[in-house]
Amino acid sequence: MKSPNSKWTLPSLATAVLMVLMVLASTICRLCEAQADPQPASELAGFSSLEPIDAHVHLYKDDPAFGALMQRLKLRILDICVIDDRDPYYKGLEPQRSDVLKVVHRTSGRAALCTTFSPYEFEETGFAQRTIRQLDADFAKGAIAVKIYKVMGMEMKSKAGKYVMPDDPAFEPIYKDIAAHHRTVVAHIAEPDSCWQPPNSSSPDYEYYQQNPQEYAYAHPDWPSKAAILAARDHLVAENPKLRVVGAHLGSMEANVNEMAQRFDRFANFAVDTAARVPYFMIQPRDKVRAFLIKYQDRILYATDLVVLPNDDTNKALAEWNATYERDWRFFATDQTIEYKGHNYKGLALPEPVLHKIFHDNAVHWLPGINGKP
Ligand SMILES: [Zn+2]
Repeated sequence: MKSPNSKWTLPSLATAVLMVLMVLASTICRLCEAQADPQPASELAGFSSLEPIDAHVHLYKDDPAFGALMQRLKLRILDICVIDDRDPYYKGLEPQRSDVLKVVHRTSGRAALCTTFSPYEFEETGFAQRTIRQLDADFAKGAIAVKIYKVMGMEMKSKAGKYVMPDDPAFEPIYKDIAAHHRTVVAHIAEPDSCWQPPNSSSPDYEYYQQNPQEYAYAHPDWPSKAAILAARDHLVAENPKLRVVGAHLGSMEANVNEMAQRFDRFANFAVDTAARVPYFMIQPRDKVRAFLIKYQDRILYATDLVVLPNDDTNKALAEWNATYERDWRFFATDQTIEYKGHNYKGLALPEPVLHKIFHDNAVHWLPGINGKP
């Protein structure tokens, strides 16, 4: 609006005051929105309407902003502990377990605890009994699942110098106990194929292995093959038909959906989560992936692998959560174009009932207790 002259008349003064107030009000409003949540709700309205569950998150920061986001998105998460002695925060179960329990409390149960155990002491006497006692105590505190990790098969060695696989007899009583308590195993066993291959900058995981050379199998030719590790994982699934096993990261069978289909056909007690592997669905032929997801619509749990450590920046994390959910929702639910690593991919536009299963129902079935009901 252009002022005809510099002298204020009464009506123009009133208009000016009103405008200043309006600008102030909108600035304050934007500020509080930015603090609570940087994204408008409408873009994720369809996502929220399913009461989505993210079956694979590592949220260790006790900040009410995450609870506010979960409430607004009607979101629940499985909040996962993991032990890896090569990484300072993940060296032991504490402080992770306490940090997750704070998040569970802070979010009024929208986050559920997935505990874990240290496998490193597997040759010590009393290992299984001690581990079972710890897990049973965690179950009593509300843990609904137990994570096992890729250090089995890719790091740990026995005293005799052999790599220890996830189906080692030392772990068997523990799996039996988890099944007896009707809890679920979340199995991050092995890694993407690219972990065993020479560096290739077009691989979705190229940066990860550049940053984490200690986890790069290609640089450790003495490690077992991926096929041997997955065979051990399959053996543990077969040996424990009453144990629900959710293979994290598409069960490390990310490169070809046929690999997953084979396991689903063989094992009724096996499902997978999509954590950090949605791009692998993008880069495979769209029709093939779409048909696979429709055929095995009861076996896929939506998941992201978002990580927030206690000292991470909350606003940055919230922006990442919103962007991840928005990208994934557009990919699974719409036929819009999604850009990934310089390529364009068309969304899958899955049928509504399939979206319901992937984003909600399957987590309720495979992770009993995730929706706050026993
Ligand atoms: Zn993870």
